[in-house]
Amino acid sequence: MTTPSVKSVLAEGRVGDPVTVQGWLRTARHSKGLSFLDLTDGSCLAGLQVVAPPELENYESEVRLLGTGWAVRVQGELVESPGKGQHVELRAAQLEVVGEAADDYPLQKKRHSFEYLRTIAHLRPRTNSLGAVFRVRNVAARAIHQFFQERGFVWLHTPILTGADAEGAGEMFEVEGGEAFFGRPTRLTVSGQLEAEIGALALSNVYTFGPTFRAENSNTSRHLAEFWMVEPEMAFCDLRGNAELAESFLRTVMKAILDDCAEDMAFFDERIEKGVAAALEHVVETPFEQMTYTEAVKRLEASGQKFEHPVHWGADLQSEHERWLTEQLVGKPLVVTDYPAGIKAFYMYANDDGKTVRALDVLVPRIGEIIGGSQREHRHDVLKERMLAQGLDLDEYGWYLDLRRFGSVPHAGFGLGFERMVQFATGMANIRDVIPFPRVPGYAEF
Ligand code: ATP
Ligand code: MN
Repeated sequence: MTTPSVKSVLAEGRVGDPVTVQGWLRTARHSKGLSFLDLTDGSCLAGLQVVAPPELENYESEVRLLGTGWAVRVQGELVESPGKGQHVELRAAQLEVVGEAADDYPLQKKRHSFEYLRTIAHLRPRTNSLGAVFRVRNVAARAIHQFFQERGFVWLHTPILTGADAEGAGEMFEVEGGEAFFGRPTRLTVSGQLEAEIGALALSNVYTFGPTFRAENSNTSRHLAEFWMVEPEMAFCDLRGNAELAESFLRTVMKAILDDCAEDMAFFDERIEKGVAAALEHVVETPFEQMTYTEAVKRLEASGQKFEHPVHWGADLQSEHERWLTEQLVGKPLVVTDYPAGIKAFYMYANDDGKTVRALDVLVPRIGEIIGGSQREHRHDVLKERMLAQGLDLDEYGWYLDLRRFGSVPHAGFGLGFERMVQFATGMANIRDVIPFPRVPGYAEF
């Protein structure tokens, strides 16, 4: 793009500056002798007000026809804005229509439901909400890379097509023709963790950041069939180090969103979820709470709360339990550790009590689980026994056991659901509205 962004014009433009901008019209209002255009290029939430006077040579032939959705290029001079909010507006000296919008352009000024917007995922990035979401998503992604890169973590590119068997993370999508092509059944990855462990046991600290897939039939507001996951894995690290990383990681990324997306956050706060910005600030400023699963279950049992799913030691925590713990009990993010072995994957480090494993979940208000992780079982014989007990095919995991035979060290890591993080930060109610093209049961358009 050769012209400055609307964002930079609004931030740096001064009265008298000659400016050329291009973008789409959110609205076009034609009064007697003037046209007022609200122009956006997606660089920020605010649009640039453009005033088009009748002196324009194409005023009657084109400018007066302009409507919502049209793409234009405007050249002119910045003048003082009488309107509230912005200090400058653009007085057009030349206006070129780059692309007309047909009359049935679906995004007219009125508010549309998010359900409806999903059916026009090719146009919804032009709405205030989705535009803001995608900018936040971008800043979060940048902050994630920055966080790890500054700490010397190596970004490891783990495969999407995997021959590795399910590891208990969720149902997998089979790749049709995988057997014929690769000589073995292949699936879409549910997690890069096992491969990240390979990386950590050579490069010490690694992370993955990419799409993962789960074929579980979860029609909820926090599950997608395709979602992005961030998975750091650290060698010479135990559960405590893992929890520390998870906390500073979440707080750093949330702070980056607050710092770099102030305008969008103000929008979410006003239009999407009251108090979401303050909640984010609270996360940035307050140390997380930590308790064991056993303690959490005691608290839940003593809560006097009526839950849809009964709680008892040994049962997995449901979303309603997670939310009560983080929202009602502690009122901040909560790290729950040391879950019963029976409800966690085979690779988690077995505690001496013979009942629990060194697992960790980070729960946050409104979402529940945002991070799941663990210290990994690095003791060869313990791991092998556990795998046999769970009926896993040891041949399939020969390489995984090998890692425990050749210089095995304690290591730990976690997985953050990227969309859940964006959901938490923005206050968006449904996870389908924080990813450009959601894939859920029965729906994979675009
Ligand atoms: P849940 O119990 O909420 O379904 P999980 O325990 O199956 O999640 P993990 O295997 O621990 O999830 O995955 C790590 C993280 O990935 C989770 O903490 C969550 O943030 C995210 N995640 C898991 N499943 C999904 C999904 N279907 N859609 C979006 N994010 C997900
Ligand atoms: Mn989990």
